[in-house]
Amino acid sequence: MSLHQISSFAAGAWIAPGNGARTIASAITGAPFATAGNAALDVQSMLDFARSTGGPALRKLTFHDRARMLKALAQELSAHKQALYDLSFETGATQKDHLIDIDGGIGTMFVFASKGRREMPDSQVYLDGDAEQLSRNGTFLGQHICTPLLGVAVHINAFNFPVWGMLEKLAPTLLAGVPAIVKPATNSCYVTELAVRIMLDSGILPAGALQLVSGGLGDMLDHLGCQDVVSFTGSADTALKLRKTPAILQNSVRFVAEQDSLNASILGPDAVPGTPEFDLFVKEVTREMTTKAGQKCTAIRRIIAPEAQVNAVIDALSARLAKITIGDPRAETTRMGALVSKGQKADVLEKAALIGQEAERVFGNPDAFDLQGPETGAFVPPMLFHCANPDTALRIHDTEAFGPVSTLMGYRDLNHAVALANRGQGSLVTSLITHDTNVARDVVMGTAAYNGRIYINDRDSMAESTGHGSPLPHMIHGGPGRAGGGEEMGGVRGVKHYMQRTAIQGSPRILTEISSNWVPGAPEIKGPAHPFTRKFGELSIGETLHTASRTISLADIEHFANFTGDTFYAHMDEDAAARNPFFPGRVAHGYLLLSFAAGLFVEPNEGPVLANTGLDGLRFMKPVVAGDSIKVRLTVKKKTLRNDEYGEVRWHVTLTNQDDELVAEYELLTMNAC
Ligand code: NDP
Repeated sequence: MSLHQISSFAAGAWIAPGNGARTIASAITGAPFATAGNAALDVQSMLDFARSTGGPALRKLTFHDRARMLKALAQELSAHKQALYDLSFETGATQKDHLIDIDGGIGTMFVFASKGRREMPDSQVYLDGDAEQLSRNGTFLGQHICTPLLGVAVHINAFNFPVWGMLEKLAPTLLAGVPAIVKPATNSCYVTELAVRIMLDSGILPAGALQLVSGGLGDMLDHLGCQDVVSFTGSADTALKLRKTPAILQNSVRFVAEQDSLNASILGPDAVPGTPEFDLFVKEVTREMTTKAGQKCTAIRRIIAPEAQVNAVIDALSARLAKITIGDPRAETTRMGALVSKGQKADVLEKAALIGQEAERVFGNPDAFDLQGPETGAFVPPMLFHCANPDTALRIHDTEAFGPVSTLMGYRDLNHAVALANRGQGSLVTSLITHDTNVARDVVMGTAAYNGRIYINDRDSMAESTGHGSPLPHMIHGGPGRAGGGEEMGGVRGVKHYMQRTAIQGSPRILTEISSNWVPGAPEIKGPAHPFTRKFGELSIGETLHTASRTISLADIEHFANFTGDTFYAHMDEDAAARNPFFPGRVAHGYLLLSFAAGLFVEPNEGPVLANTGLDGLRFMKPVVAGDSIKVRLTVKKKTLRNDEYGEVRWHVTLTNQDDELVAEYELLTMNAC
């Protein structure tokens, strides 16, 4: 059978394998399956194409345009899922593993698409925090903004998640407005190549937004500059080698790394056999050891249990692991497939042997196990070790056997458990199974500084929990120290890795123009008619309505109190109110003021304002007493188009009294027809 030719996509053209191509073997049979790589790949023209064609095209779009693009890409990939599944078996992955890699990757893209629309503006500038008042009279302000880097993101991915590994980096990069060059690990690059073909063939992306290197990266990293980013997942050795590239050091190229991690799972002292937590722990550990045959950066490598429960944990885990059928991932009965390659198998066995110098293997013999598949594939059984002296041991805390290998160790008390977990010297995730809130708090305070994520599970959350090993697009993924010191995803946080944060200082007028967000002090615009009669598209940022004033009487306050039932003493009892340090005597209800404000600014007739959808940042600054009068200023602060029919208008609202003193301030949200 001829080998699959896995191409690169460079500067707008597919480049077939050529000189220096590597052969890739099937994980299931060990037979040659594909070939990838071409030493003649012109990496400089790829970088140029991304920087001069892809970047400008992406930056012309708003965050919402790019979010819509991500959604369309995710839909396109979804429509071709079966082809990706079919190919992915060859990496040794089971159908269940595909759900994590392929469906998980597509789901991640959908989440970024939705966050882009909901949490980012329909413009090219992302505001990081509120405007800062830098001057006494408010004529000079500050605002942090984020804008896309003007370079290219080079994504170097690991072999274990050929689709998710690409998409979890690609989604935030494209949303930021930065083009990407993806370099998957050669061992599984054929699955990534198909996913890239599906995306490119869809025509959704502008030219230059996405390129692919199948095989070696050549000297691409030597040509990176200060506007570029490298985002890497893989081994600590490769990360160290690549981050020392002179061009990366000299040009302060951002280098985000996610690498080996000796993640731990702690069984709480309360979670004794017979509790739902004990069973949950055994289930989670088994799943983490066997999913993707343990080739997961977040897998549980160290199992930390109370000394008194060590034997019970060994028995329960061994019983569960014994039920794992190992073999051809295409077979429906198979629970665990193969490692990605024979090279990885040799590496895992070598690392397991190192761990075996300090710990006893209590389950799984790689030389004798029940294999339901071709013997030539990269299969190993799950291997459970028990280390009796975890304090003096070294390898169990620093050696990542990237397969179904985990080491159990006992702890004396919770401080000891925390100390053992932290011996990993920085992890992507630590999990804790406990129903005891004190245990949860102590473990979090003891281990959080060493972890990117802490996953706590118990009987209350287990039915809906997402799993120790699942990085989620909403939450950050990455960890300190040995885990690489990087951070990815975490919603909009992940998008910011591909943008520059800049502190902009200037007058309110200038800041309003740059941010498309009206700030107090900027010029007000007088519209041709009441703003509630104007459609979404007709309203300008800064368009302002000043209302007439209304005097508040004691009868108003009493009527409101009796009508609503809010007869709080500050509104009803003169003496009691006067004893309160905040009030001069009886005062108007804050909600009365808001209601009167609405009465002053609304236009009652049917019109383009469809609904009042919220109110943010309400502050009452000065009490209002009977006899005071209030008036309202209503200004269009920000506009966000939701669809072809309507958009959200954020209004800045101030209430002032007869002396022009600020009484209340808030932001009002309305949905307006286009
Ligand atoms: P590597 O670190 O060898 O490779 C990771 C990526 O880096 C691959 O895309 C690889 O490409 C690329 N790469 C390697 N050398 C260079 C180079 N000189 N220039 C540019 N790119 C380069 O990891 P593997 O994927 O081979 O896995 C090896 C080990 O790494 C595993 O056994 C495991 O211990 C660890 N690992 C840890 C992960 C984690 O997240 N914790 C994830 C995956 C692996 P190519 O494949 O073409 O060499």
